[in-house]
Amino acid sequence: MKDSKDHMSFSEAMAINRRAILLLYRRYPQMVVSRLACDVWNAVTPFAGIWLSALIIDELTGSRDGGRLKFLALVALASAAAIGLISAVLTKWSNTHNTSPWHKFEKIYSEKLLKMDFADIDSTKTHELLSAIRQNQDSGGWGLIRMERVYKNLASSVSTLLGGVALTVTLFTSRVPESAGAYTILNHPLFILLVAAVMLAVTYIAPVLANKAGSYWALHIEEHKMGNRLFGFFALIGFKNNLAADVRIYRQDITCKKYIDNDKDAFGSRGLFAKLAKGPMGLYSAASAGISVIFTGIVYVFVCLKAVAGAFGLGAVTQYVASITKVSNGMSTLIATVGEMRNNAPFLAQVFAFLDIPNNMYQGSLTVEKRNDRNYEVEFRNVSFKYPGSENDSLRGVNMKFKVGERLAVVGMNGSGKTTFIKLLCRLYDPTEGEILLNGINIKKYNYLDYMMIFSVVFQDFKLFALKLGENVSSKVDYDKGLALDCLEKAGFGERLQEMQGGLDTYLYTDYNKDGVNISGGEAQKIAIARTLYKNAPFIILDEPTAALDPIAEAEIYSKFDEIAGDKTAIYISHRLSSCKFCDEIAVFHDGSVIQQGTHEELVSDESGKYYELWHAQAQYYTEL
Ligand code: ADP
Repeated sequence: MKDSKDHMSFSEAMAINRRAILLLYRRYPQMVVSRLACDVWNAVTPFAGIWLSALIIDELTGSRDGGRLKFLALVALASAAAIGLISAVLTKWSNTHNTSPWHKFEKIYSEKLLKMDFADIDSTKTHELLSAIRQNQDSGGWGLIRMERVYKNLASSVSTLLGGVALTVTLFTSRVPESAGAYTILNHPLFILLVAAVMLAVTYIAPVLANKAGSYWALHIEEHKMGNRLFGFFALIGFKNNLAADVRIYRQDITCKKYIDNDKDAFGSRGLFAKLAKGPMGLYSAASAGISVIFTGIVYVFVCLKAVAGAFGLGAVTQYVASITKVSNGMSTLIATVGEMRNNAPFLAQVFAFLDIPNNMYQGSLTVEKRNDRNYEVEFRNVSFKYPGSENDSLRGVNMKFKVGERLAVVGMNGSGKTTFIKLLCRLYDPTEGEILLNGINIKKYNYLDYMMIFSVVFQDFKLFALKLGENVSSKVDYDKGLALDCLEKAGFGERLQEMQGGLDTYLYTDYNKDGVNISGGEAQKIAIARTLYKNAPFIILDEPTAALDPIAEAEIYSKFDEIAGDKTAIYISHRLSSCKFCDEIAVFHDGSVIQQGTHEELVSDESGKYYELWHAQAQYYTEL
């Protein structure tokens, strides 16, 4: 992190900030525009008050014309009312579009993840990057989330600065009368330049010092992140339901206390940030505040001297003091914001490294023909595959053809390549060598979403949503209720469904609905199976979703599934041979290769084969099958 920051030039840092603002503007235009409009308005409108007050004071201390005073008071009142009204409208607009910014930024990441090639989602690198982005965001508010403040402060500081300068120009141009003696030095261009230069220098130094104080957060981001991670885990242990039993039995809360109450921790009273606050951070902040006071002093002296010398009246004094202070505040915020943009640039670089992860998978355009006869044929032709970053091939020269309507079993020991084979079949990954064909055409040439439509899979670690039962089965909000009920019935969930008062509208789990029902692993499996049936895809795959069950229960589920699979091509994956012996064809995977293929009878009679060896090794556990 430090390296990338050190290597990023000022213009690169500004460019990446500009990119981030544009990204937010394109994704959430109303959020950005309403906020800018609101901030510009709120920054500029106080100047109307300052100017009108100056006019009124001048009138009061000058000619005291009743008619003009009345007129000025009315204008002040009307403008205050109009400003307040417009401000309220803008604030409402901005508030409407700036709610829960955190969710909005998270949505950007989530949308990217949904569009990403599966290979990248599966990659540790992507998750490390995402975790770094989260850590930066949660620990110091760095990254995209910081941009909200950046563009807000940019808009308001530039507007304040411009408004202030507009009302201050005459302070420097108005002349002290020649009769004012020594005071006429105030008219000398060099003197005016000197005062302006000192003001600018002081205005510049104060925020630079404040930035210096703030930069310690960015400098110590690693300690900061670690402090947050420790807090996030140890201090919030009570929130973690899945740990609750262990915590109680082993009194792990006592161990945790040791970590949370550690006063030498990054945020502890004797920790790094406390030391920095007492040391350099505190000094820089104090110096920054002190210098701001000097600035105010110079303004007062200069304005008062000119007023005493007769350059302008009392109203102008109030106008100059107020508006030049605003110039100073605007300038400070602008400089501080530019500093913040610089500090934030390396964090934004990480955000864009993530958002720029390319989609390398070839996207075909062929549509998958919708065939009523379900006559789809898939062929693996000499397919090998190596996971990105992995040394060894997980699949080696696999050749296989699925005939329509067949039952194919893929068996083999754990780690033999069965799941990898399915991932390639579903084009979650592309083969490193060889090709996979659908009806004779390389699957890469098909439109990906179209190709997905021909598969239903129950993965090993399938997940159901804490949503309504019917929504889980259909993966839709509006769905065919009759079909959903039928699929649940076929999947063996009928009896349990009778007990559910809400029927298909019953929420699964209690995460989002207190009346939700908690279901067992076996029931979840049935719902997952009903989901595959509802999709009605020509290929259905069960990838060991039964790993938690005993071999006998698994075999029962597989053969029951076989009954309901009908005319579909079904592929069963298991490391338990008994589950799949009913299949038309069994492929035995070993070390990434298909080493045997045939029916159960054929394979079990080959005494020198792997299948025979595995069958007899496993048979002792389920001889009754
Ligand atoms: P099975 O489903 O037969 O248990 P897998 O297909 O899951 O086997 O794994 C085959 C091989 O590929 C194993 O050696 C496994 O460690 C490796 N592997 C699986 N997933 C990944 C991955 N995402 N990255 C790298 N290697 C992997």
